Amino acid sequence: MLRTRLTDLLGIRHPIIQGGMQWVSRAELVAAVSNAGALGILTALTHPTPEGLVREIQKTRELTDQPFGVNITILPTLKPVPYEEYVQAAIEAGVKIVETAGRNPEPFLPALKKAGVVVIHKCTSVRHAVKAEKIGCDVVSIDGFECAGHPGEDDVPGLVLIPRTADTVNIPIVASGGFADGRGLAAALALGADGINMGTRFLATREAPIHERIKELLVEADERQTTLILRSLRNTARVFRNRVAEEVLRLEGEGAGIETIGPLVSGKRGERVWSEGDPEAGIWAAGLVVGLIHDVPPVAELVERIVGEAESIIRQRLPGMLVSG
Ligand code: NAD
Repeated sequence: MLRTRLTDLLGIRHPIIQGGMQWVSRAELVAAVSNAGALGILTALTHPTPEGLVREIQKTRELTDQPFGVNITILPTLKPVPYEEYVQAAIEAGVKIVETAGRNPEPFLPALKKAGVVVIHKCTSVRHAVKAEKIGCDVVSIDGFECAGHPGEDDVPGLVLIPRTADTVNIPIVASGGFADGRGLAAALALGADGINMGTRFLATREAPIHERIKELLVEADERQTTLILRSLRNTARVFRNRVAEEVLRLEGEGAGIETIGPLVSGKRGERVWSEGDPEAGIWAAGLVVGLIHDVPPVAELVERIVGEAESIIRQRLPGMLVSG
C-alpha cells in the first residue's frame, strides 16, 4: 500500500484519480474506479442539465459506497453553461469532493467550503497552482503538456512542471498528464507529487462506457497519434489525430474563427466517437500515453497492477541501485 497526503485527505486506498472525461466519466466507470480503491470522478457537463448530474450521482451511489467526486470544467463552450447551478446541484446531492478545471474557481469556493467539500483544482501552470492554494483549494492537480484535452498554452511537460509545483505550493499535489503505469506513479511520487491523475489510460478498460473499437484503437496507436488543435483560439486541446482534427488545423491555418471551426469540434459530434465507435465522427481527447496502452483490463486489475509496479520499483529496483562506499 502507498500512503500519501492524498490518500489520507480523500479517504482512498490508492493515490490514483480517474480524470474527468467529457461523455466518458459516467457512473459505471466512476464506481469501478472507486471500488478499486482509487478516486472516480464524474463530469458534470456530460449531463445537459444539473438534474441529470444529480441522477448520475445517485446512480453512482447505488454502485459504490466508496468516495467519488464531480468535475466541473470551466472553459469556452459553444453554448452557455449554468456553472453555478451545477455546483449547487453537486453540493445539494451531498458530493464531498469536487474537481474544478479550466478557469479560476474562486467564485464557487465559498459555497463549496461552507458545505465541507474538498476542492481539487486542476491547472496547467505553476502560477495558477499558487493562486489555487491562495484562494483555499485543498489540492492542486497539475496537468502537464502530455495530457489529453486542454494543456494550456505554456507547453511545459510534467518532468519540469511537477517538481516546479512541488517547490512552490504546500497543499497536496496530483500529477496529471502522461501517466498510465506504475513507473509513472513512482516517478510522480519521486518528483514531489502525492498521487497521479489518469484519463486516457482509463478509456482502455472494460468498464469505460465507450465503443470497443475505440478501445482497440487506443491499444494499436502509438505516442505520435495525437495533435494539438484550437491553439489559434488560445484554447489548445490535445486530441487523437484524425481527419477532423487535420481539417480543423487546416482551417486554423487560414485564420478561421470558432464560427467556422465550431461545427467540427463540437462535443455533440465528438460524443458519437464514443457511442458509435467511429474514430472519424468528430474530435476526441487523447493524451500522449496512447503509446503506453497495450491492453483493455478491468479497472480493478489496472489499479492493482499500477500500484504493485510502483511499489516494486520503490522497494526493489531503486534500492538495488544504492551502493555503499
Ligand atoms: P463544446 O461542444 O461546447 O465545444 C467543443 C470544443 O470547442 C471544446 O474544446 C471547447 O472548449 C471549444 N470551444 C467552444 N467554444 C469556443 C470558443 N468560443 N473559443 C474557443 N474554443 C471554444 O464543448 P463539449 O465538447 O461539450 O465539452 C464541454 C466542456 O468540457 C468544455 O469546457 C470542454 O472544453 C470540456 N472538455 C473536456 C474534455 C476532457 O476530456 N476533460 C474533453 C472535451 C471537452
